Amino acid sequence: MHETYAKSILSQKNGINVYRGCTHGCIYCDSRSEVYGMPHAFDDVEVKINAPELLKSALNRRKSPCMVGMGSMSDPYNPIEAELRLTRKTLEAVYDCRCGITLITKSARVLDDLDLLSKINARSKCVIQMTVTTADDELCRKIEPNVSVTSERAEALYRLKEAGIPTVVWFCPILPFINDTEENTLGVLDICEKASVKGVVYFGAGLTLRDGNREYFYKQLDLSFPSLKEKYIKTYGKRYVVSSPYAARLDELFYSLCKKSGIMCDNGRIFAYLSEYEGYGKQLSVF
Ligand code: SF4
Repeated sequence: MHETYAKSILSQKNGINVYRGCTHGCIYCDSRSEVYGMPHAFDDVEVKINAPELLKSALNRRKSPCMVGMGSMSDPYNPIEAELRLTRKTLEAVYDCRCGITLITKSARVLDDLDLLSKINARSKCVIQMTVTTADDELCRKIEPNVSVTSERAEALYRLKEAGIPTVVWFCPILPFINDTEENTLGVLDICEKASVKGVVYFGAGLTLRDGNREYFYKQLDLSFPSLKEKYIKTYGKRYVVSSPYAARLDELFYSLCKKSGIMCDNGRIFAYLSEYEGYGKQLSVF
């Protein structure tokens, strides 16, 4: 890892990434794509050490509080977070500025900040987004090797539920010939139902591949799924959108399960919910 001083931190849509790059090693990671122009190796995580102060001053310049979104390009609970606590300090800035937070992670380490997330939720709004691509821990170790396995993520979702913190699951990507099975869809949706998640983000049964992430993905296929790379090349060539041959059936199953469980599955509605700041003073209004 290496440290930098960022010049600005908050995007136009109130998004923030305190780390750039990631060591979780997901084989399909889109953030590796060349289009993002990362000037350093992806696994050499850039640490924006002044992120909390920058965020605080950006939020203080705003006319009103808002929802802050964390982790669109890098997991806020990279292993280095255990030592640096930069995400935590950033959450403290969010709390001090009376804003809400939504963050996306694959790590059960999010529970290290349960106290603070609960405080933000009690006063304004906190929604944790967790990616769950497979119900099978063994497969999870192959496709997302350096982060909590699914059963640990599920436990984290259950703990968040107990703490009254709403959650959203990202059920994507679906990798053709790897996790594109009915059994997997049933397993992931079962976790979502048990965790009473608010919504599941789903982009259909497939993934996207482009320069940068395609090469990495293929390299990892060779290591963990012998002969699958050749099948991908033959089936998809250099296509950007790589859909499962079972997409129609899996999509139908996914939407019918969500409907049955009352889980929100319209991505537009979910994103609107995530970005909606619902006001400050929930806790105060109790008294
Ligand atoms: S956690 Fe996210 S950013 Fe990190 S490797 Fe996986 S997909 Fe990429």
